[in-house]
Amino acid sequence: MRARFLPAAPVTCEACDADAFAILSTTTDPSTGATHVRLRCGACGLWQIRDLDAKTAARFREHLDATQRQIARVLAAMLRAAANDA
Ligand SMILES: [Zn+2]
Repeated sequence: MRARFLPAAPVTCEACDADAFAILSTTTDPSTGATHVRLRCGACGLWQIRDLDAKTAARFREHLDATQRQIARVLAAMLRAAANDA
């Protein structure tokens, strides 16, 4: 499978610089568009709280969506390969 590279992550872990997070909660200020995010790093487990401006929050959501699509593609390829080997 040809590798697809994502743009640089708009948010990375404060401790280990990873860009894989589990999101506990988000709240958005409707007047400013700023988003308050509580998340946990998928690599080192550090809980973090981030306040993102509207532009960064949008890029963060896009990056998470792209990462999820990339994971789904890899898993689908692995399942196809396993089925062909069976
Ligand atoms: Zn981390």
